[in-house]
Amino acid sequence: MRVVVAGGSGFLGSQLCEALLNRGDRVSCLDNFSSGRAANVAHLMNRSGFECVTCDVTARPRVGGDVDAVVHLASPASPDDYHRHPLETLAAGSRGTENLLDLAVRHRSRLVLASTSEVYGDPQVHPQTEDYWGHVNPIGPRSVYDEAKRYAEALTTAYRRIRGADTGIVRIFNTYGPRMRAHDGRVVSTFVRQALAGEDLTLHGDGSQTRSYCYVDDMIRGLIAMLDSPRPGPVNLGNPTEHTVRELAELVLLITGSSSGLTFLPLPADDPVRRRPDITRAREELGWQPEVPLEVGLRRTVGWFAAQNDARQESEPSSAGRPS
Ligand code: NAD
Repeated sequence: MRVVVAGGSGFLGSQLCEALLNRGDRVSCLDNFSSGRAANVAHLMNRSGFECVTCDVTARPRVGGDVDAVVHLASPASPDDYHRHPLETLAAGSRGTENLLDLAVRHRSRLVLASTSEVYGDPQVHPQTEDYWGHVNPIGPRSVYDEAKRYAEALTTAYRRIRGADTGIVRIFNTYGPRMRAHDGRVVSTFVRQALAGEDLTLHGDGSQTRSYCYVDDMIRGLIAMLDSPRPGPVNLGNPTEHTVRELAELVLLITGSSSGLTFLPLPADDPVRRRPDITRAREELGWQPEVPLEVGLRRTVGWFAAQNDARQESEPSSAGRPS
């Protein structure tokens, strides 16, 4: 297959490009590099069947040749990114989704939309099943992301109904692993960075809010299962094991052996209190479930972040012997 991966130089996108190449697909990565990094795909540039095109999906991307499938991951995704780029986030979910749906329809190819657990907002149903409509504040600080994804789901569903598009929607829950940015503001990368630097880990509220953390390799298997399936979704993809944010912080301290303390900050507005996917549908329709336990995934993630730190220090010229 030739697969267009929009947002392919980001955290999930670059891992997906690599997994698709490894199984023999050809991959065209489209990215505007707003939160993606060239370094994430640098090791793929010489692989046959891979190309990386700098473009913004909100501006009708031109893609020549055959296209067998499209995966739409292109959107600011971390709270820091979508708070900094609210209009771009809305555009990626609306115009970006429309442009990629048009591309898929033109080529009669399948499109998989990366939606999010944020469509459930601060959920009043627990765990969250796909039938739950969510509890989202449409004008709150998180709404640019939540509502962009809800609109993207509505648009994708309308294209399926009216234009006969072959579409699949996945709702991704918190995912972590190598290639997260150290300063992306997400909880796992923040805790790992702080622990490795010997800084206090910053928790919001009292840390009793829960999240479910899925290791990236599991998530990529789930995305590919949806790509290969004819199912429309939405399907929750995430790890159903729930942990408090405080438990996560303590596990990061244990794994890193850091003597950092914990600092408690005010809870941001509309922060979800509980978050946990019901993955019955993913199990039944895709034969998918996560396999990597949190401690194993965190050890791999900490190892990757530590190696990045080492590489950075080695590449920085030592001050000794520098002309004054
Ligand atoms: P990321 O920020 O690392 O990746 C997003 C990529 O999209 C980046 O490479 C960025 O440069 C690119 N991009 C953004 N706007 C674009 C545009 N207009 N045109 C072209 N490229 C654009 O984030 P990620 O964690 O890899 O997330 C990928 C997708 O998965 C996002 O759509 C996100 O909403 C969704 N998702 C991720 C998580 C998670 O925990 N990682 C959870 C839920 C949903």
